[in-house]
Amino acid sequence: MLILPENADHAGILGRMKITLVRGDITQQATDVVVNAANSSLLGGGGVDGAIHRHGGPEILAECRQLRASRYGKGLPTGQAVATTAGKLPARWVIHTVGPVHSVKEDRSGLLASCYRESLRVADELGARSVAFPAISTGVYRWPMEDAARIVLGTVRSADTRIDDVTFVLFDVEAYQTFERVLRGLGPTDEEIEAVLAARPSEHWEKLFALADALTDADLEVTWEGGPEPGEEGVSEMPHAIYSDALDAVLSVLVGLQVIVPFDWSAWHRATPLFPDGNGLDQAPVADAARLATTFIRAERFSEGTIQEAIQSGALHAILRRLRHWYQNERQ
Ligand code: ADP
Repeated sequence: MLILPENADHAGILGRMKITLVRGDITQQATDVVVNAANSSLLGGGGVDGAIHRHGGPEILAECRQLRASRYGKGLPTGQAVATTAGKLPARWVIHTVGPVHSVKEDRSGLLASCYRESLRVADELGARSVAFPAISTGVYRWPMEDAARIVLGTVRSADTRIDDVTFVLFDVEAYQTFERVLRGLGPTDEEIEAVLAARPSEHWEKLFALADALTDADLEVTWEGGPEPGEEGVSEMPHAIYSDALDAVLSVLVGLQVIVPFDWSAWHRATPLFPDGNGLDQAPVADAARLATTFIRAERFSEGTIQEAIQSGALHAILRRLRHWYQNERQ
């Protein structure tokens, strides 16, 4: 099953890498490469490793032994990857990589990400185009599935690789559903978001910057209505922020420019160093300006004053500055 972002405008522009999730057995995949969640001995084990050697036959183990006798006398270090034949498997090569054992005391996510990046690098060297991965470290090495999915999908999507077809082979329904949820939550990639922004007409961008330049301090003032006191009809209204017409105009042009991205903005909001003040946005991809704008604009539907926070923290200005820089210097 191919997972696409839900928003049709974004779904139309796929990045160069296709990511597919399947429920199944990695040994049955007819991709150029299947990745083995090996252990550092390279001499076989349980789980994915056991299945690959069982179905692939003795040729794979013979090559692994040669690797131990030559390059990897002490075993394959965690986070690295090496290729062998795929023996009798439908794939052409097996790339063996050693995942980290999960630890609560130490952050080993860099090593887990490295398994995927290194496997893709080795696959590139082989000239492969398609790679199937298992959920490395989530079995005997106990990495929580959701956390693994987030690390792994983020890493693979942003990897610098010529591989254009990546399949994640998830062994059980729960793993499959977790990967699906996380992939949807990540929303469109940087490239997909940028392509949507680049497709918007120049007049709209010019209008945004003209309106933004014309904003006065008074336009940026926010008033609040409602509160605990009941009004004339005996009904109390929830407090809600009222923005000036000039600011509303800027926000609607932003929405019209499709900076609103379909993704799990609350999760991103919690995790990003760009929150809350947009500091660092100047160096980040323009897609992050769209994501940050989404978190403020979407959250404002509860009228809780998140746009006011964005004004006061400087995030709104950082977003507009980043968009303007992209428009003037980077837009293709
Ligand atoms: P690790 O030691 O890196 O944790 P495991 O092989 O124990 O590796 O498990 C990794 C993940 O692969 C687990 O989620 C497990 O359920 C899954 N798995 C086990 N066998 C297969 C298989 N044949 N194909 C795909 N995934 C598998």
